[in-house]
Amino acid sequence: MDPPIIIGGGFAGLSNAYFIQGSTLYEEHDKVGFPQHCTGLVSRRVIKILGSLAEETILGYYKRIVIKDLELKTLSILNVREGVYRVDRVKLENLLKEEAENRGSLIMMNKKILDINASSKETCISILDYYDHDVKKTCFSNRIIVIADGVTGFISRRFSKKSKDLYLGLQGFQEKGSYHIDPEEIIVFVDDRIFPGYFGWAIPVSERKMLIGGAWPLKYRDKRRLMKLFTRILMKKGVIKDEKIYNMFGGLINRDFDKTFHKPNIVLAGDAAGFVKPFTGGGLYTSLYQVLSIKNSLDRASEYTDFENLYIRHLRPIISQLYLQRKFTELTYKIGLERFVRNILRISDIFLGIEIDYDYYILPRSLNNI
Ligand SMILES: Cc1cc2nc3c(=O)[nH]c(=O)nc-3n(C[C@H](O)[C@H](O)[C@H](O)COP(=O)(O)OP(=O)(O)OC[C@H]3O[C@@H](n4cnc5c(N)ncnc54)[C@H](O)[C@@H]3O)c2cc1C
Repeated sequence: MDPPIIIGGGFAGLSNAYFIQGSTLYEEHDKVGFPQHCTGLVSRRVIKILGSLAEETILGYYKRIVIKDLELKTLSILNVREGVYRVDRVKLENLLKEEAENRGSLIMMNKKILDINASSKETCISILDYYDHDVKKTCFSNRIIVIADGVTGFISRRFSKKSKDLYLGLQGFQEKGSYHIDPEEIIVFVDDRIFPGYFGWAIPVSERKMLIGGAWPLKYRDKRRLMKLFTRILMKKGVIKDEKIYNMFGGLINRDFDKTFHKPNIVLAGDAAGFVKPFTGGGLYTSLYQVLSIKNSLDRASEYTDFENLYIRHLRPIISQLYLQRKFTELTYKIGLERFVRNILRISDIFLGIEIDYDYYILPRSLNNI
């Protein structure tokens, strides 16, 4: 089949344009990587898949995730197999765009897709061009449309159920306090009152700075107040110097994995499909897995039905993994994450010691696989 039409130039859309040469991508903004929202934590797998593109953007490396309560008492230590990397998301998206263009894909900036009509014969899209404020209609046949318009995208919403499990993630940089934090450790804070349904984090990013953040259910009215309370506690405990957060950024986290991600000639990708690891909402590895599945299936298919069969087969392992992660997430939040860590994770940690796979933390698969 011919290379796809892609809607949305975030990580998912740009990775599609990068891996599938000859794609055409439409992005509504005039630059990629903005607004900045993501922490940029990824496994070694992501670095391997993207190669030098990702290597150029590495900002940090961490060996462990240390789970603490807000008294700073260590509840569990998770040693991450092959570690966790922090990448510069804005730089990575710019590099993906540049390299996708070098490889022959067309990236059309300032073009907003307003509407889409798909039938088995052809697919038509209406494009608002912000340069001349004109709306044009273009039709394609034998090309799938990859909709990667993100968690708030209105185009994907027409093809999937609206997510009910949305969180607002807030984070910002802070000067370190007197409390010693190992530069190779990420701290995850659990507290069922301050982080109901999620957790907080403190990530050393340089000798003097930390990235402090947390996420709260979108429907919660108290999100910003709880973020303030969290930073105040960290300041009192000496983790950070003062409670004012600099350069606050963040965004919506979708943890509602929805299996309805493919329709005739249409594939929903990335956050638009809820194609994320449900426990954290991390979408970079899962997006890449999906892109490689799309590429692999397009290369071998001559028409959409072949594509769909190949694509579903390719995705099966990650779907089972995400499904189990979803069940695990639901269980921990039913019990309360703090209670779960104190009573279950802690016991197994003491007796067994825990090594986790950052992407496949339930039934890990071989590291040779994507
Ligand atoms: C606070 C926070 C921290 C996170 N940390 C991590 C992390 O550490 N590791 C990790 O793996 N993941 C993390 N994530 C998740 C990760 O950022 C997302 O999974 C990822 O950015 C989703 O990429 P996407 O391309 O699917 O969507 P987006 O990045 O939202 O991109 C969608 C794009 O589509 C464009 N668009 C929308 N509608 C249209 C239209 N009609 N026409 C044209 N263009 C359109 C938008 O302008 C945008 O550029 C985090 C998320 C948040 C909020």
